[in-house]
Amino acid sequence: MFADFDFDYAGLIKEIRSRGWEFIAIQAPEGLMRDAVKLSLSFRKEGLHPVVLVNPCYGACDLAKPPSGYDGVIHLGHAPFPGQEDAIFLELPSKADNLKGLESIADTLPERLGLVATVQHLRLLDITKGMLEKHGKEVHVGNPGGRIKHRGQVLGCNTLAARDVKDDVDAYVFIGSGKFHPGGVAMATGKKVYALDPYSGQIEKMDSERFLRIRHAVIEKAKGGKRYGVMVSTKTGQMRRGAAGEVMMELEKNEMEVVLFMGENLPPERFIGLKLDALISTACPRIALDDIANYPFPVITPIEARIMLGLEKWENYSLDELE
Ligand code: SF4
Repeated sequence: MFADFDFDYAGLIKEIRSRGWEFIAIQAPEGLMRDAVKLSLSFRKEGLHPVVLVNPCYGACDLAKPPSGYDGVIHLGHAPFPGQEDAIFLELPSKADNLKGLESIADTLPERLGLVATVQHLRLLDITKGMLEKHGKEVHVGNPGGRIKHRGQVLGCNTLAARDVKDDVDAYVFIGSGKFHPGGVAMATGKKVYALDPYSGQIEKMDSERFLRIRHAVIEKAKGGKRYGVMVSTKTGQMRRGAAGEVMMELEKNEMEVVLFMGENLPPERFIGLKLDALISTACPRIALDDIANYPFPVITPIEARIMLGLEKWENYSLDELE
């Protein structure tokens, strides 16, 4: 079980027993559903009563409540936010450790580097720091706070640990998969990001220019409409009714019609055929920044809506961060 991760099964069972749990809900993001199934089968052999939750799950912001009759939730693959101590979080550190691409270009990197990673790859921070220091680099790892539990950890909606060392570094090294997180670090800091995929060892250099060009075009497309939708997620870690209210007020001040949409996942297909000019998402920034192609209208963030309305200058653009 969990062949790709560092995982203490005996410790987990001890924790479950110490809490007196018997009926256990297992919540996992899509990529870990197979592991959730294996965990469920093992729990049955322990005499426990597990259920695997099938609603989509993308982050700790999605933490499920135990269904009626269940004692608690085991949440896989994310670090907890403050106030989520009732659940058991299995962060599942990955065993992937391919640093080859980074090592091969280490001598060419800027002198002062910030180091960040997604939660699965945090264990590589110290190893990577040591390697870069051997190549004469000065390496900084930012502090946690708020929804960021660990040093150097970044979320798609929060780059605090990157911003914490912004003034001390010339560029960042990001460890993890995909473009969403390193793109966010580049946008939040305005600095280059060397994104290392620890599975393949490949490295990709990213900067904010391309992302900002795209966002500028999306804002332009959203401009000049008559009717806008504002989206609010009911997920506890995404709900921003205050931000939605502010955007609605500003739109209406500008003689625009506004429809407020609320839902857990706000899927694109629910908006097909609606007569709207654009959507403003106060939910996970991934909707506007990463999933936009799936929506029938431009999707912008609250700060982008302020730029669209002329209330904020483009030069003051910032990433939509959730506290
Ligand atoms: S709001 Fe989005 S980026 Fe932030 S934790 Fe949730 S899913 Fe991840």
